[in-house]
Amino acid sequence: MVEYQVKKNRKKLYILLIFIIFVSISAPLSVYIYRDYKFKNYMDQAENYLMSEKYGQAIDTWNRVISLFPKYKDECLKDIDKAHSLIKSKAVFQDGEDYLQQGEYIKAIEAYNYVSKEDSSRFAASREKIENCKRLFLYSQLTFAEGKAITQDYKAANDMLLSAKQYVPDSILDEKINEYSDLNNKLEEARRIEEQRKLEEEKQKEEQRKQEEKKRLEAQRKQEMLNSTAIPVLMYHSIDFQEGNNLRIPKDKFRAEMKYLKDNGYTPISLDELYGCLNGTMSPPNKPVVITLDDGYEDNYTSAFPVLKEFNFKAAIFIITDNIDTNGAFLTSEQLKEMSQNGIAIESHTLIHSDLSKLGYEEQLRVLKQSREKLESILNSPVNYIAYPSGKFNSFTENAAKAAGYKLAVTTQKGLAQKKDGLYFVHRMAMYNSQDMTKFISLLSGQ
Ligand SMILES: [Zn+2]
Repeated sequence: MVEYQVKKNRKKLYILLIFIIFVSISAPLSVYIYRDYKFKNYMDQAENYLMSEKYGQAIDTWNRVISLFPKYKDECLKDIDKAHSLIKSKAVFQDGEDYLQQGEYIKAIEAYNYVSKEDSSRFAASREKIENCKRLFLYSQLTFAEGKAITQDYKAANDMLLSAKQYVPDSILDEKINEYSDLNNKLEEARRIEEQRKLEEEKQKEEQRKQEEKKRLEAQRKQEMLNSTAIPVLMYHSIDFQEGNNLRIPKDKFRAEMKYLKDNGYTPISLDELYGCLNGTMSPPNKPVVITLDDGYEDNYTSAFPVLKEFNFKAAIFIITDNIDTNGAFLTSEQLKEMSQNGIAIESHTLIHSDLSKLGYEEQLRVLKQSREKLESILNSPVNYIAYPSGKFNSFTENAAKAAGYKLAVTTQKGLAQKKDGLYFVHRMAMYNSQDMTKFISLLSGQ
């Protein structure tokens, strides 16, 4: 019985012992299990907060874990860092959205780029946004460039596309850049040509201006010269001495005067040349002089003609045409022809030395015209000049002389031949036997 009792007590002791052992083992184990459960729970909770973007709560939870389970501090701090990074990513993503709204595509792309690297949960969304931004940026730059191109500012358009190309390399850009480059080159070429053309035009205008100015000055100079032209026209009659007739000049005296002209550089000119000098179609030679003889005395052939030939001088004789071949004191048609062929112009002095101042227009026209025609028929050459007999004329004379076909008429009015007197009233210097050489010299200058 005692043995049984002992056995029974032993059994109780074992159970107690086992219980004690069980308790001493299971209690700490339970505590351990419980704490592990709690930790995992916190961590899961934090992760959930993170997933649902409740970053503040996630960070709070990790901080709690750190205080409860200090040995997980490092791990938790890493998680907290990650949460902060995600907070920033979220903000940057929002910045990207704002930039996109404002059309600041490059800044938006930069923001989304950042997010796509830092936040895997937003990677896909960011890439999609970036592609969208690129499309919009490309479109806006193309539109902008198109606007510039419309105003032909191809260079600005190209600069814009070139800067866009570094963000959005795209074949459309390359195409447009080439197109605008071509257009710009063409435009610049056109501008260069236009500039060259304008320059050339300006040059031509300048040259034209110069030419016109030169012409104007030349015309002015000519006009001034013409206005200042004053040519002595000497009026002789008979070259044969006759007592008491002051108009008749001895041959020696005539020769001495011609010699003076020769020795002193005078240039006897024809009536054609006088006409040219007075109407401005020719310039007078040095020291011009015109030698004329009125009435057509026979001594003009026998006395004057040899002297004129000797000095090789031009001269003109005004003929009273009705005296030709009818009056021995006057020149014959043969003499006229001969002299005409030797530098002596044969011109008209009317038919019968009429006093034109006493005749009407018609009668003047008749005598002027008939005398001209008669001379022309003898000489077989044009007669263009007339000396009014005794220098007399009236208000019809100029028109009658013109109508009769004369280009110029000389009078007996004293003075040098000048444009201002008119082509039908040319002044002359009368030669008299009473005038000595000194007087002759002063007559040459119109005195
Ligand atoms: Zn006369």
